Amino acid sequence: MAHPMPKTRFASVILDEAIDRELDYSIPPDFPVNIAIGTRVLVPLRSQLRKGTIIDLRETSSIASIKPITEILSETPLIHGELLDLAHWMSEYYATPFRRVLRLFLPPTIRKGMEAKQQLFVTAERPRPQLVELCASLRGKKEAQAKLLDILLEHPKGILLTELLEKASVARTAFEQLKKQGVVSASFLAIERDPLANATFVPTRHKVLYDEQKTAFASISRSLSSGAFAVHLLHGITGSGKTEIYLQAIESVLKMGKTALFLVPEIALTSQTVERLKGRFSDQIALFHYRLSDGERRDAWHALQRGQARIAVGPRSTLFAPLKQLGLIIIDEEHDGSYKQTEEMPCYHARDVAVMRAKLASTAIILGSATPSLESYYNASQGKYHLSTLSVRAEKSKLPHVEIVDLREESPKQKGHSLFSRPLLKAIEERIKNGEQTLLFLNRRGYHAQRLCTACGVTLQCPHCDVALTFHRKDNRLTCHLCQYHLSPPPVQCSSCGSEDSLKYQGIGTEQVERVLHAIFPEVRTLRLDADTTKHKGSHDELFKQFRAGKAEVLIGTQMIAKGLHFPSVTLVGVLNADASLGIPDFRSGERVFQILTQVAGRAGRGALPGRVIIQTWLPEHPIIELASRQDYPAFYHQELDSRKVFNYPPTARLVKILASGPDECTVQKVLDSLRQELQKHLPSSYELQNVLPCGYPKIKDRFRFQFLIKGPSCGPITRLLTPLLQKRKTLPKELRILIDVDPLSTFS
Ligand code: ADP
Ligand code: ZN
Ligand code: ZN
Repeated sequence: MAHPMPKTRFASVILDEAIDRELDYSIPPDFPVNIAIGTRVLVPLRSQLRKGTIIDLRETSSIASIKPITEILSETPLIHGELLDLAHWMSEYYATPFRRVLRLFLPPTIRKGMEAKQQLFVTAERPRPQLVELCASLRGKKEAQAKLLDILLEHPKGILLTELLEKASVARTAFEQLKKQGVVSASFLAIERDPLANATFVPTRHKVLYDEQKTAFASISRSLSSGAFAVHLLHGITGSGKTEIYLQAIESVLKMGKTALFLVPEIALTSQTVERLKGRFSDQIALFHYRLSDGERRDAWHALQRGQARIAVGPRSTLFAPLKQLGLIIIDEEHDGSYKQTEEMPCYHARDVAVMRAKLASTAIILGSATPSLESYYNASQGKYHLSTLSVRAEKSKLPHVEIVDLREESPKQKGHSLFSRPLLKAIEERIKNGEQTLLFLNRRGYHAQRLCTACGVTLQCPHCDVALTFHRKDNRLTCHLCQYHLSPPPVQCSSCGSEDSLKYQGIGTEQVERVLHAIFPEVRTLRLDADTTKHKGSHDELFKQFRAGKAEVLIGTQMIAKGLHFPSVTLVGVLNADASLGIPDFRSGERVFQILTQVAGRAGRGALPGRVIIQTWLPEHPIIELASRQDYPAFYHQELDSRKVFNYPPTARLVKILASGPDECTVQKVLDSLRQELQKHLPSSYELQNVLPCGYPKIKDRFRFQFLIKGPSCGPITRLLTPLLQKRKTLPKELRILIDVDPLSTFS
């Protein structure tokens, strides 16, 4: 006779909104027995019904008058055990309420619409160039319709009507008008959206690994077949064949019937990697992308949950995808800053959380980079990670020759502009003549072209933020990069001293580089890649495709062009201002400059022709510039580690940054001061609390910002003290926001 299953009668529920604490409810006896942790439910709270997630089941509850769960919202659990454990760990480690961590695992689109419903799906009825033209002509006159077209242009394959209206935040009448004119059409569809469906892929063949690759792969294979937790750091120069190793590792994991998670810094920038993945694994991939429509995102998520897709690929949030039987995690370009969430809590680092996920799932994880973070290389040197090194390019092309040009000597010789030194100009000219291609790289910090008054020396500032306005020539306006504020057209009279015609532009930007280059070489064809030229979905890919097809001799860009691109006919890379970031007061600025210079240099000479890299700098003797020009990572690591030790910075010490902002300067500072004092009372003397200071950006959107840093041997004692202190924060002024950043990437914020 079968034993009756012991019935669980109570559930702990975390609500989506309102309350951080978990609440107990009873499970009505007529509910299905198999109600499980991770199930979505509707529960009563005071007089309202609210949505939530079951995170625990038990047979008793200490609460006397317990209310029953009203309704079940998902037939199956939406989050499974391993991921719940990970969420609990994150909540503690990043001092963030569990409710807010859970949101990452059950993003809004998943919580909202559980089913792929029949809905109106909107598609364009005109070719893209016509839409662009129409959009421009409607701009300012019929703004609502222009906005709709903006969104539609971002979704070339169409979009759900509800989403379209929501994203454009316009009324349905605007859509009806476009429909009446035959510009768009709508039809009912039950869609299984596959964002890759229309793309074409070149199937790639399995490569025979060369010796160093073989050694690295053998070490990874051992971990894969042992089925135990292990972290592999794959340090390989650009083009050494790291991706080939990832692909073969994924292949063996799939053969074992397991799944793989592949994180990339920013999907649009690494579409070549995605192409190669797709070429090898075609329909097994669920691709995440921050520009996916809600419907596409939901489908990809459910495909993984149901096991229809077995490889998840995407940026940092993909880490929380519901893969089961996980066999491998790969973090490509593990040093990349986009893996860290900095704007809101939890301020998690996807690489670090991924290591924890691998540990909880007992799987292997590969961290790959040409310039590993100091943290990862340090862990490898301590024996915590297995280090494999790839020191040559796989296709036997040589690493490029790197030269440094001293701008102190070169610049005065250039009349009229100081952008290009003579050696760089000469090299560009040669490339144009020989039909080879050039990449010109301008560091983002040098992007700002500001409006400065030459009479009184005042720069035009944003009235809401403590930052200078940046000039954008194409739109003829001054824009604040921190908020939406802009001035158009730029004023001609100085608002500070009143003098006219004294306002000049200062600083260089990618737009200006392009203009100057055309002035020097009138017939040159250029493409420009930066935040301005890549607003629409697919525009990266489009620009790269044009460049690869030889539609331009020169590609000018910000750090977006530094990452992961493979252009065989690029034989010259020019770095216009290598040292622009070195002046930023941050313990990681040297590391960042080294990484960027190495990445950019890696773009040259990837085909049959040898490459050349020219780095222009005002600081040729700076050790970072010098080490980057030799591309000597170990030497850089040892030098940087020594200075981190001296100043007690990571990786040998740990940091927590506490930042507060609010409309009243004095209140913000006072609250932080008292929080700091409280912590000081309880922290052991091995912890160093720095003073409360204004942030690097002291004011953003009319909010004043202050911060202080805590350094110490580990973060645990700090966050354990902070959590109860913050739970009391209801007594704090309402408009005040506190952000805790554990292991901050930057102290300049
Ligand atoms: P990384 O990811 O380190 O930048 P890739 O994996 O992209 O390097 O490899 C660079 C190029 O070399 C690619 O075109 C790749 O197909 C090729 N490649 C990689 N491994 C091998 C190999 N063992 N034999 C031949 N070509 C290879
Ligand atoms: Zn002035
Ligand atoms: Zn602003």
